[in-house]
Amino acid sequence: MNLHPRYVRLLAAVLTTALITGVVAGCGEGGPEAGGRILVVGIDSADWDIIGPLMEEGKLPNLAALVESGVSCDLHSLEPKQKSPTIWATIATGKLPEKHGITDFLDPHTKSPLTSNVRTARTFWDIIGERDMTVTVVGWLVSWPAEAVNGYMVTDYFRYSPRPDRPLPEHLTYPEDLRDEVEPLRVASEDVTEEDLDRFIDLDAAMTADEAQRLPVEQMFAEMRGISELEHRANSLRGILAGDRTFLSVTRHLMQHRPTDVSIVYLRGVDTASHKFWDAAHPGEVGFPVSQTAFRVFGATIAHYYEYADEMLGALIDEFGDGTVIVCSDHGFEGPKPGQLPGGINDHGPIGILVMSGDAFRDGVRIPERSVRDVTPTILALCGLPVGDDMDGVVIEDAFEPAFLRSHPTGRVSTYERTE
Ligand SMILES: [Zn+2]
Repeated sequence: MNLHPRYVRLLAAVLTTALITGVVAGCGEGGPEAGGRILVVGIDSADWDIIGPLMEEGKLPNLAALVESGVSCDLHSLEPKQKSPTIWATIATGKLPEKHGITDFLDPHTKSPLTSNVRTARTFWDIIGERDMTVTVVGWLVSWPAEAVNGYMVTDYFRYSPRPDRPLPEHLTYPEDLRDEVEPLRVASEDVTEEDLDRFIDLDAAMTADEAQRLPVEQMFAEMRGISELEHRANSLRGILAGDRTFLSVTRHLMQHRPTDVSIVYLRGVDTASHKFWDAAHPGEVGFPVSQTAFRVFGATIAHYYEYADEMLGALIDEFGDGTVIVCSDHGFEGPKPGQLPGGINDHGPIGILVMSGDAFRDGVRIPERSVRDVTPTILALCGLPVGDDMDGVVIEDAFEPAFLRSHPTGRVSTYERTE
């Protein structure tokens, strides 16, 4: 075919424009576009073994809809077991702890809480923010002090009510003056009412002291302890709810008033509720006596909390609107083994959850297990960005629609880290 030179030049110009537009907008011919809008919801400790039966009963409609419309898998946590901040830092960076530097809640030397400036690897929100996507990050573990992002950040420390005799800590938010705007949205434990607790616990089912005193002596002691702990346990639930409600409300506020391309929110409550109420839900399976009172009052609290987390997820998706939704957890939950007291990473299980739903992902497919290391590479691929050679995870390619991968083949870059 002979083309007039003028047409050749014209064709070249058109092709160049198409290429540039394609790169800038991240879109290829035919397939779904890269990037777009993304909602990432981190639910600490979410476990398929608890989710499965609840989903079958229709009690987690929002997560079920995502599973049905998207791709889901077991998400293998770090081994040996690590604490949650370490795993969430791996999720956010695609790197193992020795590279990202967040190895605990506390600094092993100073015993003060680890802070975001200890992290030695860049996060996916930092990387995609630099590529002109705007981001909102709310509540992520070890995000204080707030870093400069291409959008908004409300750090994990924001949930704690300031002591009246102390000034508020600095850098709770980015930008700094966002703090005043979101300050009224903080929910304190005292703001959580009896009615709020009603759906999680059944206080009326507690044994009375009179009833307990008629029991054989050993059982009586367990019951009396169960009764005496009621208020303390109900109060711990207040604290759990206050934290999640704070970050839910902050995220929704920002979505309404300062929408960004990407919203990332971390919810802690499922984990804390699982630690606090596992014994009540599994008497006989833990290696210590559980009172009838604890079983009757708090036996269904974990299940109800999963239902609440699903409602929060629904509220976030409603507010967010169209786009890709990614839900993940850092590990699963198994409860204390016989001979162990409840609490801490002993309770955690090795398998968390991952669900991704959106145009770029396959529909209603369960894929083989992947790792918490793979979340960041996969988000980068979703955004049409290459994966760092120094990352420890890989793109979860079998999650994507083949058409998406054809138009956005996974690229590589040596590193995103700044070397200066
Ligand atoms: Zn935990």
